[in-house]
Amino acid sequence: MIPHVTDTPDIQIPAELLPSDGRFGAGPSKVRSEQIAALAADAPHYMGTSHRQKTVKSMVGRVRDGLSELFGLPDGYEVLLSNGGTTAFWDAATFGLIESKSQHLHFGEFSSKFATAAEAAPWLSSPEVIKSEPGTHPTSITRDDIDLYALTHNETSTGVSMKITRPEGSRGLVAVDATSAAGGLRVDPNQFDCYYFAPQKSFASDGGLWLALCSPAAIERIERIAATDRFVPAFFDLKTVLDNSRQNQTYNTPALATIHMLANQVEWFNANGGLDWSAGRSDRSAEILYSWAEQSGFARPFVENEDQRSHVIGTIDFVDAIDAAQIAAVLRANGILDTEPYRKLGRNQLRIAMFPAIDPEDVAALCGAITHVVGALA
Ligand SMILES: *Cc1c(COP(=O)(O)O)cnc(C)c1O
Repeated sequence: MIPHVTDTPDIQIPAELLPSDGRFGAGPSKVRSEQIAALAADAPHYMGTSHRQKTVKSMVGRVRDGLSELFGLPDGYEVLLSNGGTTAFWDAATFGLIESKSQHLHFGEFSSKFATAAEAAPWLSSPEVIKSEPGTHPTSITRDDIDLYALTHNETSTGVSMKITRPEGSRGLVAVDATSAAGGLRVDPNQFDCYYFAPQKSFASDGGLWLALCSPAAIERIERIAATDRFVPAFFDLKTVLDNSRQNQTYNTPALATIHMLANQVEWFNANGGLDWSAGRSDRSAEILYSWAEQSGFARPFVENEDQRSHVIGTIDFVDAIDAAQIAAVLRANGILDTEPYRKLGRNQLRIAMFPAIDPEDVAALCGAITHVVGALA
């Protein structure tokens, strides 16, 4: 059944069934009120001040150091950052990280986009794209002529996650789109060369920035391509990003509030036990959501393979007799936001974020609220 929008039925969810916070969107996602309060407290001497001075540079330093700690980065790994979000990073990587040929795992809307950028670049060979059906993920194939393997840790459009491992025996760089995964899913930094993301998902901040955790091999690649005569627009120049990042700066002006909220979230994770703790919150939420769906009698997890079921983005299919679009509309009218599915997937589905900022108890409350709505719709 193709979801369709109808008039929203007038269903009031009882107050005791409502989650304490109604934000379940896949990004921008819930920002904790403590982050907003910390920003407001610092605002008079932080907001509206120069990003070339110590106040802001030290906040960028806290983000870079905090991420190194959170991911346990080995010696020589560096944290790069610049403006434009993940989408800008794909273009930067097309200019300055792929030497001549990349291989892309395509299993949803987001994982296809880097492949499209590489395909369009006349200075690169045509990339290899390995595709699988939505709701599953493909596997890399090691080849001698591939110098960059493009993986996606969590495909946000379908709720599929994949374990990050280097393709066996490969010599190419491993570049991972971790936009929705970073901070919410575990990863071993020895398995990647470039783990890139934006702060509006598991890091509970705002959009417009990208960050990349780079191995010595990735940094060597950036420097080597920069030394060739390949034309690179200044905004996408990874060597410029590297030089600025090392000084806790960005090439052009960043959004200061984004950096502040990001630093706060990274330090919240580290203070509570690091990635095991933050990913553990998402694990608990996922356990609650998927077991509720399996026991509901009217819904079930879209992703069949349990190992591929994302712990940060849950996709739940509903039986044909129930219109998921109506559930999402009723939830929205009751202050529970952004549970609509990814539009291009076209399924009778809800998509629910379970990033670490989202309280597992709120996921449990959401499940109860959906059960209530389904009962009231019947
Ligand atoms: C959200 C998302 C993006 C896009 O990020 P922007 O910062 O909006 O460019 C890319 N990849 C994945 C996996 C995402 O979840």
